[in-house]
Amino acid sequence: MVDKHIKLGTLLVQYGLISEEDLDDGLKLQKLMGLRLGETLVKIGKLTEENVQWVLSKQYDIPFIIIEHVNLDKDLIMKLPKNFLLENRILPLFETDEEVSIVTEDILNYTAFSFIEGVFNKKVSISIGEGKKIEEVLNRFFNQDAMPSLLSVLEVLVKKIKDTFFYRIDIVISNYMCEISVYGCGILKKITTINSSLKKEDVLRTFDLLKIPFLYEIHENYSKVIFCIYPISTFVSELQYPSIIGGYGLAMTNFLVFSDTRSSDISNLIYSEEPVYGYPYLALKKRNIQYDKVIYTPDSFQGGFYKFFVKMFLPRKCNFCKSVGCSECDELGYFSERLEGLYTDQEIRDFLSMRGNNE
Ligand SMILES: [Zn+2]
Repeated sequence: MVDKHIKLGTLLVQYGLISEEDLDDGLKLQKLMGLRLGETLVKIGKLTEENVQWVLSKQYDIPFIIIEHVNLDKDLIMKLPKNFLLENRILPLFETDEEVSIVTEDILNYTAFSFIEGVFNKKVSISIGEGKKIEEVLNRFFNQDAMPSLLSVLEVLVKKIKDTFFYRIDIVISNYMCEISVYGCGILKKITTINSSLKKEDVLRTFDLLKIPFLYEIHENYSKVIFCIYPISTFVSELQYPSIIGGYGLAMTNFLVFSDTRSSDISNLIYSEEPVYGYPYLALKKRNIQYDKVIYTPDSFQGGFYKFFVKMFLPRKCNFCKSVGCSECDELGYFSERLEGLYTDQEIRDFLSMRGNNE
């Protein structure tokens, strides 16, 4: 790949805007300062931003855009990830059937352009504009955005999954976006994508704002943070204590105890005095606790009990929308059938095998 910074530097020297020495200084300092070459040269007073853009627009015969005059196309901007736009200082301008028009300070940023081409499956048409101004406009645009939209999505979602078999909300945060799904009974249902990155704390803070006690697990790798969130209020309001909630939790009279979601029996309990914010907590190894009421999900059903009070919500695909989501099924794509009362192992197994729509 061509090193775009050296290429820009060479151009500047050719146009007599800087000397070879300035260029060398600029390239060295650029690394130290962690900036682009153009920015670095502007910072150390060798160039003005207009110089840089003038060179580029002359050399490549590219239109120069005054950012202040741009009318923002909100829908178009939202089609690209926030961090991508900010990191690359790219402002999408408009879209036609054939191409997407953008303004950038860095017309040699081929990696970014091909990303955009991939997203729209259209050619990218480039204009040049002042990077700092692009960033300002984008920041103003996005700052009204991410947390409130997560809040409003979750506000609705937590109500919707109450009394359904969906008992977990998954929030997957990557650099550029945030995907929200619900999970239960082996069904992962994608709800929405927020085209904007969030911090871990944003997610926790959002739940605090919702005033919902919840359990969460975090799985992290180099590119993603995966939150698995269990809003216990969706179950707890109907419970009498002490009770078990599925394979993932146990609520007792004066405190809440939670189990490792991946443990196959309720042996690894996690205890907290407070309605729980967090996982893991102090682990209490206890077995054979007596429970009056149990809520199981088919996911967590392990068997090995006789005539327990059981409450299960069983999914059945919505016939109207075939799981796409409609008002008939509360927009989650499934009806929830209830199994509630005293049952034996075998009765539950029979019920589950009759169901046969788990996919
Ligand atoms: Zn439906």
